[in-house]
Amino acid sequence: MASRERKELLDPEGWESHQRILVILAHPDDPEFFCGASISRWTAVGHDVMYCLVTCGDKGAPDRSISSQQLCSLRHTEQRNAARVLGVTEIQFLDYPDGYLVPDLNLRREITRVIRSVRPDVLVTCDPQTLFFLGNRINHPDHRAVGQAVLDAVFPAAGNHLYFPELLEQGLEPHTVREVWVSGTLQPDIHLDVTNQWETKITALYEHASQIGEPQALAERMRQRCKPESTPEAPRYEEVFRRLILA
Ligand SMILES: [Zn+2]
Repeated sequence: MASRERKELLDPEGWESHQRILVILAHPDDPEFFCGASISRWTAVGHDVMYCLVTCGDKGAPDRSISSQQLCSLRHTEQRNAARVLGVTEIQFLDYPDGYLVPDLNLRREITRVIRSVRPDVLVTCDPQTLFFLGNRINHPDHRAVGQAVLDAVFPAAGNHLYFPELLEQGLEPHTVREVWVSGTLQPDIHLDVTNQWETKITALYEHASQIGEPQALAERMRQRCKPESTPEAPRYEEVFRRLILA
């Protein structure tokens, strides 16, 4: 194997300095389900990872005895605990109502506000083009809406002072994100080996008790997601992204 290929295999990110990584997704539990092992991989080597969750996840329960407000508060707590397992302590909740997100100009402005405030090197979101996946699933409309609004905010709004001039008046200078990592995509071009972080991802998912049902059943389902070349003694796990290097 050529040495460049070997380096890419061992160090696919190729980041030579400390990175500020902002994860913007729709619901509490999305960061852990979509890319929790990658987040753990990044914090373990000292990168800063921050979350912005756009909705409160306040429709994510079949139980009629719990109000949306109670569920919102519960999901904040679960999200904080799950994030802590992955080494993430900074979380913004925008608390839009669950299920009703549309990628309109108001949402784009609020995400532009977050990007200009946090000023990340790397931004992680999800793919708005994914309508179906796994052969039997419809992707949640909030996932598609967030992915669209985030990409629209990254380019060109976050980096151009003429977009949303009210943000500039509030002291939020333009910011150009260097890389975007798109999770939940059907067109991945980077595969991270997260075998060493897979159990940490499962432990983080346990914190979303209101969402996961029976924890052991979830763990078994997650462990079945190993790559085909895995053996029972040596399972291998990946998380995949479409990576855009913009600057
Ligand atoms: Zn979700």
